Amino acid sequence: MARAVSTPPDAVHPARRPARFNTRGHDQAAAHLATLLADSPPHALLIVGPRGVGVGTLARDAVATLMCGAPVEGGPCGECRSCRLIASGNHADLALISPTGESNTIKIDQIRTLVTGLALYAVEGGRRVALIESADLMNDEAQNALLKTLEEPPAQTHVILAAAEDSRLMPTIRSRCAVIRLGVPDAQQASELLADKLGVDAPTAVRLLRMSSGRPGPLIEAGASSDAARAHAQIRRQILDLTTTPPHVRLRQIPTLVADAQGILVAEGEEGEVADASESDDDSDDVRDALVEPAKKRALTKRSTRPTPAERRAAATALLRLWRGVARDLALASAGAIDQIAFPEDRPEIEAMAQRLPTSSWSVALRTLDASLHAIRRNGNPELLLDSVALRWPAI
Ligand SMILES: [Zn+2]
Repeated sequence: MARAVSTPPDAVHPARRPARFNTRGHDQAAAHLATLLADSPPHALLIVGPRGVGVGTLARDAVATLMCGAPVEGGPCGECRSCRLIASGNHADLALISPTGESNTIKIDQIRTLVTGLALYAVEGGRRVALIESADLMNDEAQNALLKTLEEPPAQTHVILAAAEDSRLMPTIRSRCAVIRLGVPDAQQASELLADKLGVDAPTAVRLLRMSSGRPGPLIEAGASSDAARAHAQIRRQILDLTTTPPHVRLRQIPTLVADAQGILVAEGEEGEVADASESDDDSDDVRDALVEPAKKRALTKRSTRPTPAERRAAATALLRLWRGVARDLALASAGAIDQIAFPEDRPEIEAMAQRLPTSSWSVALRTLDASLHAIRRNGNPELLLDSVALRWPAI
């Protein structure tokens, strides 16, 4: 039985990503996985990492490797019958489980069916593999139902769990799994991936990745375009310009800024907002909750009805977070830490504006924005909070 393994590969297994892995930006973890699967594949493997960093992709690379009839360099060959069946989504010995229904959970019936299937002989004669996506959304009954299979796995069976947070899994489940942890992917590789998948140029890919806190997943799912990157840069410039705008004019500009910020929500799933990479969120779950409702695809479409309170809050939150990113960059630049700003491509504007007021002005603005984000999470009125931020924004 394999136990938790999270050490990097040793000298015998050099860090090298199998050529046919689709995973990008996680070379060390990919090489580690290949090593793990080559030696004596664990019956249970848990891959953990924040949503959008590539957990699902690495899990599918693991599936393909385990099922391939003739692995190459520790990865799938891409050509054998098994690889072709997986590519067409028709492999009879692969079971895919993911959350369903209103509650968005994995339920006991799904796991029971899976367990029954795993106990049968493989149709293709090789291994039977189950991939449980968002495994942290298994409810307690489902986890209990899975436990026995993990404790006494039938021969030639493998269960791969992909999860955002392993703390939601029972310790008895976790202890049965080999574990691979992913952080955000290598920025260079992730932006190359984005440029390729989204058809954008390199600087746009870099900016989009920063907008998404280093997570390419939400951008790919939403099909983010160069428009989103342009809109983001534009909003940041408008926020800078507010510094020289009279207060009553600032208030008139807020609705437009909100609409523009909402336009770059790259919606999909719980964390579907484009956040600022500079975010230092103390309770990001609350922010997520605020964004769940409107983030679902509506952001980029024309609306015929009035926005719901949750949508208004999400749009205001998006703008406040973006605004906070500007304030943070200004405070850093003013304090002599220009190298640490979140969007180095905006450096000339940030540097020029930062110099015009003392550091304390920008620090106060940053605190005001933090307080407003906190208040909006506590159901503060979005429009009043934004007006207040606009009026208190430093003036020249
Ligand atoms: Zn193959």
